[in-house]
Amino acid sequence: MAQSTVVNKSVQRRTSTRRVEDKLREKVKGLNSSDIYSPEKRSEIMGRIKSRDTKPELVVRSLIHYLGFRFRLHAPELPGRPDIVLSRLRKVVFVNGCFWHRHVGCPQARLPKVRGLWWKNKLTRNFERDVETQKRLRGEGWKVFVVWQCQIRDLSLLEKNLREFLTR
Ligand SMILES: [Zn+2]
Repeated sequence: MAQSTVVNKSVQRRTSTRRVEDKLREKVKGLNSSDIYSPEKRSEIMGRIKSRDTKPELVVRSLIHYLGFRFRLHAPELPGRPDIVLSRLRKVVFVNGCFWHRHVGCPQARLPKVRGLWWKNKLTRNFERDVETQKRLRGEGWKVFVVWQCQIRDLSLLEKNLREFLTR
């Protein structure tokens, strides 16, 4: 019970984080149109917003812990530095932001209107890097599971899917 309370609180925090993220993104869009920063600088700013936004990962960690599994974080020796590593099971979990990793068909992955093509190229490279990373991991015998940021909203479904993946 205590665990699910923790998870629910994380989700509430997550919702307000998303609002903050949207506001910041609006702000960055505003900067785009006034052309104060170079694309590189803007990208750096967006990167900072992203790295501050760690909540979905905490939710997934709580869930996996709740399911009774032990794990390591950010294994630097593995391709793509997976967020969560279950070495004994040879399974890894990535927690991906829908915008940064281009969640296909997801409303949160919509591109900014300003400099749309620049963003498209940049984020498509992220997407391709993810595909390549997963291919390498699978080639080394790892099973890979991706949790998308938007899937944090339905915790019972997420829990079911994680349980299926981890006990498969
Ligand atoms: Zn999504």
